[in-house]
Amino acid sequence: MQETIIEFQSVSKRYGNHHAVQDLDLQITKGEIFGLLGPNGAGKTTTMFMILGLIEPTQGQINVMGRSPYRSAIHVKREIGYLADTIGFYEQMSAKDNLSFIARLNQVPSQHLDRRVEDLLDLVGLSNVANKKAGTYSRGMKQRLGIAQALIKRPQILIMDEPTLGLDPRGVEELLNLVQQLNQQYGMTVIISSHQLDQVQKICDRVGIFVHGKLQAIGSIKELSEQLSLQLGHNCIIKWHKEATVDTEALDGLLRSRFASSQTSWEQNSLSITTTEYLTPQLVAWCSSQGLPIMQVQSNELTLQEIYGKYFENEKSRTKSTAV
Ligand code: ATP
Repeated sequence: MQETIIEFQSVSKRYGNHHAVQDLDLQITKGEIFGLLGPNGAGKTTTMFMILGLIEPTQGQINVMGRSPYRSAIHVKREIGYLADTIGFYEQMSAKDNLSFIARLNQVPSQHLDRRVEDLLDLVGLSNVANKKAGTYSRGMKQRLGIAQALIKRPQILIMDEPTLGLDPRGVEELLNLVQQLNQQYGMTVIISSHQLDQVQKICDRVGIFVHGKLQAIGSIKELSEQLSLQLGHNCIIKWHKEATVDTEALDGLLRSRFASSQTSWEQNSLSITTTEYLTPQLVAWCSSQGLPIMQVQSNELTLQEIYGKYFENEKSRTKSTAV
């Protein structure tokens, strides 16, 4: 059974009359990579800060490993590593000295300190530049040093605020590979907030899309895509060998009687079907049972970018019509 490590129950955070987060119900499973997505001001940082116990909810309950992060602040903070969107290091000190300093602040026992610092520098791929001043590090190297810093107390949960911001494509890839490695090797639960949707899509098990403090959608990319397909219609293109003889007219009649809600369009050697629900496996099985020599199936699983755009678009038009 999957173990819940973080739980929000009807949580709201208000500033005066403004809801930064509203009625949030959310469960994060131990060992998953969860993406917090949303435009500026959506409530992502507030949500992360409530997990960290830095902000107290106005209403509702939060549990992190069975405790309230606000009331059991010290205990909960011990279990969470946090990488802020802007990280500061002592620029004149080496990466190793910066990390040792943080280790002492976190009360890492002195007999373990050197070893832990070395292991972490190795883990984040900075061993060979450990004695260079942090001020000479690139943004990508600083992010990796930031991760090492967040891991110094050996937390079970890692929270990262916009970690890929300002990184070049290679830096992004290296950082995300590292996050995945931490998750897979150590079973670490990772919460990552990002605007870089195409990247998040690659590594997150599930994502939550926030708009104006409300969690609008939650699930794996596949689940979100399917949910939205219900609203948008789901399209599937089936192609067959161009030399095959297919009686498209006869098949069209049969297909419509079997899948009543479908809209079909037949080309020379392809069929495009739009249905209100996700029926690709059934459609493919049916076409195959009718003797269609299928060469290729293209299912329009939406990218996270499209899903996100859709929610964001709806929200923008809602705000516009309210303003009018
Ligand atoms: P960004 O991507 O820009 O960091 P976000 O999704 O992290 O945005 P939050 O920082 O959580 O959003 O802010 C949510 C809302 O709450 C915003 O409208 C913000 O202006 C408001 N807010 C946050 N902190 C405070 C505060 N201390 N006082 C008043 N309003 C606040």
